Amino acid sequence: MLVNLTDILNIAEARKIAIGSFNTPNLTSLRAVLSAAEELGEPVIIMHAQVHEQMGLCRMDEIAPIMLMMADRATVPVCVHLDHGEDLDYVHRGLRLGFTSIMYDGSAGDTALNYANTSLAVSLAARYGASVEAEIGSMGARESGEQGITDESIYTDPEEAKRFVSETGIDALACAFGTAHGVYLKQPKLDFARLEKIKSLVSVPLVMHGGSGVSHEDYRRVIDLGIRKINYYTYMAKAGAAAVDALGSRAYFHDMEVAAIAGMKKDVQGAMAVFTGRTLI
Ligand SMILES: [Zn+2]
Repeated sequence: MLVNLTDILNIAEARKIAIGSFNTPNLTSLRAVLSAAEELGEPVIIMHAQVHEQMGLCRMDEIAPIMLMMADRATVPVCVHLDHGEDLDYVHRGLRLGFTSIMYDGSAGDTALNYANTSLAVSLAARYGASVEAEIGSMGARESGEQGITDESIYTDPEEAKRFVSETGIDALACAFGTAHGVYLKQPKLDFARLEKIKSLVSVPLVMHGGSGVSHEDYRRVIDLGIRKINYYTYMAKAGAAAVDALGSRAYFHDMEVAAIAGMKKDVQGAMAVFTGRTLI
């Protein structure tokens, strides 16, 4: 069933878990993620990232109706989220298409403009009954597979986070405390004290991006400290590619699709198991 971000994060808060939030830029990954969630009986967030469209994958207007139809049919709660919407026009198009949640990401630009545009995104989304995630501080490169920047100077400042949430009225806050997008070149060092401080000052659920490559122990620790949504894509996409590679050169394209679904589903289930405290696998 289709739900918005607020509803699904309320479930996470009640259970003290994090909801896995996965990019689904094509039908293959969409089927892998939804089938993983349904088999585990867990709520899930599926996401379209603006940057994926720029990389030549499905346009938002092509994939959104399929995401919404499949979310609606699913046997578990599913939030259909626009990931890293970088301009208000794109966010508005997403809301018109039916996304139940959007992220407006103005973190790369001027801070005053981030405040102003995030506030506009909140009033826009309210008209559609949708929730808003936004970011203060920066997690570096977007979902394009590049190694992100982990310079501490761009980590989320706890006092700034408090002001940002109260002035903009967002429903969830993405914060930067040491994770980055893409593949980590060395084991990330997370700033748990900073996360703890943000949690003590901010009342909305907290979101962690750059979920691939974080150790199981660190996942558990950030969830204990209040992370309720974990964005995860890189390792899932790598698992799909590894499953296709294993077929060798004689495979047909349809074999590749079936193998990719199985590979990504297994990886997503592993991640969801950790996020929901089932077991460390
Ligand atoms: Zn992200």
